[in-house]
Amino acid sequence: MKNPVQQYLEEIVEACAGTSGAVADYIPELAEADPDRFALCLATVDGRVYTVGDAEARFSIQSISKPFTYALALQDSGKEAVAEKVGVEPSGDAFNEISLAPDSGRPFNPMINAGAITTTSLLAGEDGDERFARALEGFGRFAGRELDVDEAIYDSELSTAHRNRAIAHMLREFSILEGDPEDVLAQYVRQCSISVDTQDLALMAATLANGGVQPRTGEEVLDAQLVEHVLSVMTTCGMYDAAGDWVTAVGMPAKSGVSGGIIGVLPGQVGIAVFSPRLDSHGNSARGVTLFERMSHDMELHIMHVS
Ligand code: GLU
Repeated sequence: MKNPVQQYLEEIVEACAGTSGAVADYIPELAEADPDRFALCLATVDGRVYTVGDAEARFSIQSISKPFTYALALQDSGKEAVAEKVGVEPSGDAFNEISLAPDSGRPFNPMINAGAITTTSLLAGEDGDERFARALEGFGRFAGRELDVDEAIYDSELSTAHRNRAIAHMLREFSILEGDPEDVLAQYVRQCSISVDTQDLALMAATLANGGVQPRTGEEVLDAQLVEHVLSVMTTCGMYDAAGDWVTAVGMPAKSGVSGGIIGVLPGQVGIAVFSPRLDSHGNSARGVTLFERMSHDMELHIMHVS
C-alpha cells in the first residue's frame, strides 16, 4: 500500500495542475523553460524525502539563493556587521527596485536585489571568486550534495544585468559595497545561476527547519541562533510584493525565484519545495502558490494556526 503522505502529495499535485501564468522571458534560457514542468518535494527534519513529478528537473536557483546567502553572510561576518549594511524591513517595492534608505543608502532587506547584492559581498573571501566558492560550497552543504553552475544562464544574465549593475554601483556610491562593484555583481549573478532540483531545495529548506543541521548528512551548516533571523526575514520579505498575501494564506517562511521555484519552511518539521515555471503577476510560481495554499489548509501548516 502506498504511503499516505505520498498519496496525498500526488493527489494535490494533480489537483493543482492548472496552466495559468507565464514563464519569465527576460533571457532566452528562462523563456525556453518547459512551462508544464511540475514538481513537489517535501523533506522532513529526520531526513525522509517525498517527491512527486519532475523532482530531478534542474533549474537555476535565482532568488531562492537570497536567504542562503544571507544565512552564510550572518555566519561569516556576524549579525552586527550584516545589520550595518542591510536592514530587515519589508520594502513593499518590487524585488529589483533601486530602493535604498535615503540617508544611509542601506538596502531595506536581504530579499530584494539591493540587499542580496550586499549580503553577497559579506561572505568570507578576498574577492568575488573566493566569495562565490564559499556560496557554492555553502549551498551544497545545505542541499547535502555538491552543486554546480548553469554557465549558459550565467552568461546570459550577466550580459543583460543592467539594472543589477546600476544597483551595485549605487551601493558602491553609498559605501555599502567596498571594492569593485563589478566583481560583486558577477558573483551575485553567478550565485543566482547555481543549478538545483526540487529535492535540493526541499533539503535546503529542511536544513533551516532543522535548526541549521542538514537532516541527511547531520552537518551543522548554520548556527541555530541565526536560523530564526533568516526565517523571520523570509516571513516578512520572501515572496516579492505578495508577502502579505502569502503569510495570510499560507503562513510560513518562504522564498520564491523567477525560474519557478518556491521553498517553504515549517520550523521543527519540514522543508517544502515546488517547481513550476509559469509565474503569476507578482513573479511567484502560479501553481506553486496554489499548491502551498492547499497544503497549508489541508495539513494545518499555518504557523499561526490555533487548533
Ligand atoms: N537573477 C535575477 C535577478 O537578480 C533573480 C530574479 C529572481 O529570481 O527574482 O534579477
